[in-house]
Amino acid sequence: MIPKSFIQDLLNRLDIVDVVERYVPLKKAGANYVACCPFHNEKSPSFTVSQSKQFYHCFGCGAHGTAIGFVMEHAGLGYVDAIEELARSVNLEVPHERSAAGEHHQKAAPDLYEVMQTATRYYREQLKISPRAIDYLKKRGLSGEIAAKFGIGYAPDAWQNLAAVFADYQSEVLSETGLVISGDEGKRYDRFRDRIMFPIVNVRGQVIGFGGRVLDKGEPKYLNSPETPLFEKGRELYGLFQAQKAIRGEQRVLVVEGYMDVVALAQHGVEYAVATLGTATTPYHVQKLLRLCEHVVFCFDGDKAGQRAAWRALENALPYLQDGKRISFLFLPVEHDPDSFIREFGKAAFEQRIQEAMPLSTYPRQSWKRYMTSGRLRASSQNPPSKKQGARRPRHSAVCCSA
Ligand SMILES: [Zn+2]
Repeated sequence: MIPKSFIQDLLNRLDIVDVVERYVPLKKAGANYVACCPFHNEKSPSFTVSQSKQFYHCFGCGAHGTAIGFVMEHAGLGYVDAIEELARSVNLEVPHERSAAGEHHQKAAPDLYEVMQTATRYYREQLKISPRAIDYLKKRGLSGEIAAKFGIGYAPDAWQNLAAVFADYQSEVLSETGLVISGDEGKRYDRFRDRIMFPIVNVRGQVIGFGGRVLDKGEPKYLNSPETPLFEKGRELYGLFQAQKAIRGEQRVLVVEGYMDVVALAQHGVEYAVATLGTATTPYHVQKLLRLCEHVVFCFDGDKAGQRAAWRALENALPYLQDGKRISFLFLPVEHDPDSFIREFGKAAFEQRIQEAMPLSTYPRQSWKRYMTSGRLRASSQNPPSKKQGARRPRHSAVCCSA
């Protein structure tokens, strides 16, 4: 028997659009994806996949189900084999009764989502009664409407805030969700203290982690939830849930470095931005974004770190470029990040920067050749370019690579 909690966890980690697309090429049609049905013969598509509901449905033959059902039907696998197959694709181990991994995943029950939801509500309530936190957001130019859209909250400056909403502060689920840290001698305390809280939400709108930003000078400036049964950094993008509609509408997505950037951009009407979560852009991110729209614009700070991040994004993106898809790199002036830039110059100036991104064909061939011959493109994508190579990137300019 495979525990129900594991199956739920597996389904929550999968995106049915990814799963179906391994077998059937999908096309966007409004909020859904469509294709000619793989289960019956037809000339016009009546097979639809709903990302928000996470199921597929054929209006022609009535085929219907979840990601698991699809793999069973399409690959002709049994229930257990289909689950094994899908679990492998997201690096989960199917629990067998006596394995340690099994115990781990049995506990990864759906109620972890409720825990995150309770914490989110608490942090939002706390924001409402903290003039200091409200003041901070106001100074950054954020409206209450935007704060609500992103579910922004505040974790007060105390060690056991969450004891106020979780009757059992010693409960395992609090450490499993990364909300609480166990220190020496079993003492527990909240991970997030005196921070602006940004809930990290999956494509279904469930909170799976938090990013916390200090209000003043403290360190670290940004603190994220650790990897948990709900949250895998390399597969999630901050703001994607809120941005999905705009990304489809605009047919482009802007990838930035911080959650504050995403929120500030949305505040100024650039609603198609997402952020990586303390990781480099992964191949998974790139694939996901290229499926949503035609044009992926990576926007990085003009400093050295930004240039290195851009280089890694480029290395991870190149293998996935197909006809009709474009990738650009936008470097802001060194003294700016997207948040400060759009606050100072506004939406039009920011979008002008995006427009000015040059296609690869006009990018100086010499420079491109140098990148190619540096061996970096063919080298393992796990190695960031050296500082020297990063420094070659031009400042104050936008570079677009279009294949
Ligand atoms: Zn059908």
